[in-house]
Amino acid sequence: MMEARIAEFWRHGIDLGGFPTPLQEMPHLTKALGGPTLLIKRDDMTDIAFGGNKARKLRLLMADAQEKGADVIISTGGLQSNSACMVAAAARRLQMKPILVLQGSPPKEYDGNLLLEMLLRADIRFVETEGRNIPAIMNNIANELIDEGHKPYVIPLGASTPLGSIGYASAMLELRDQTKEMHEEIDYIVSACGTGGTLAGLILGTKALNTKNEVLGISVGPDKVSFANHIAQLVEDASRLLSVSLSTPPCEINVFDEYVGEGYGVVTKPVAEAIRLVAEKEGIILDPVYTGKAMAGLIDLINKNHFSKEDTVVFLHTGGLPALFPYRNVLREALQVQ
Ligand SMILES: *Cc1c(COP(=O)(O)O)cnc(C)c1O
Repeated sequence: MMEARIAEFWRHGIDLGGFPTPLQEMPHLTKALGGPTLLIKRDDMTDIAFGGNKARKLRLLMADAQEKGADVIISTGGLQSNSACMVAAAARRLQMKPILVLQGSPPKEYDGNLLLEMLLRADIRFVETEGRNIPAIMNNIANELIDEGHKPYVIPLGASTPLGSIGYASAMLELRDQTKEMHEEIDYIVSACGTGGTLAGLILGTKALNTKNEVLGISVGPDKVSFANHIAQLVEDASRLLSVSLSTPPCEINVFDEYVGEGYGVVTKPVAEAIRLVAEKEGIILDPVYTGKAMAGLIDLINKNHFSKEDTVVFLHTGGLPALFPYRNVLREALQVQ
């Protein structure tokens, strides 16, 4: 019942391309780490603005925007927000105008996601003061647009709404079909965790399929207690949209917050080394802010024997590749490459 509802929501979404994303083996990384069998789900290969996890959420959110007759999409994020950039690209694909409220001062160089946003002709509004109320700023912009006769639609930080999370549950349905074909069974799925919508979706999908896999989140910022509460709420609200009653107690939500290091976006040596190791062993590129940190966490958990050799672990590649380039010097320094 819940599975059918998730599939129905997915079908009613807007096809932005790239689905189902590939599920690939990582035999050389598996061997190098001497741990569980490692697979990678390539959600970096979705088809808007260099790909990334927000595409699953946006499939449903943009359908909602279109149904409501929206002609302008307003969203937000940091200066190198993958989410904001993907919103801008999705909006353009659907002939809507993107307005982005980005937190930070206007940079000297337009690199990474900012470069893409420039090409997408997103209307960027920089908000420099710390702690400003971004949702209120977005609402003010929306109200001004309504007065001018427009129909704005606001997508909050990370597109992590209950509807967006339902979009992510689709990843579990895809994985079920793909692992069946490969004669594999998933024991764990590991993902970076930023605003929680992805993890909430993976949990929803797991509950819907009633499979035994555990969902592990590696935080790139917030602490695990606030994540657990926030994700539990998202799961509950999304279930209500699916017309099922489901609640996951916060204590059952597994988020590790010990790999954040000095904070969001700060690249530690293990992160840089994890990115290089995956590139060297598998020819797959990770990003410095999310997937590199999540992979550093996964490697540490493997080293600490969190898994058994017989386990199968799926690493979710959530994208973020445009942000790799602005980090070029940080990565070189961390790896001490000349
Ligand atoms: C947004 C993002 C995440 C985190 O996803 P949430 O749903 O916000 O937890 C992970 N990786 C990348 C590359 C992202 O852009």
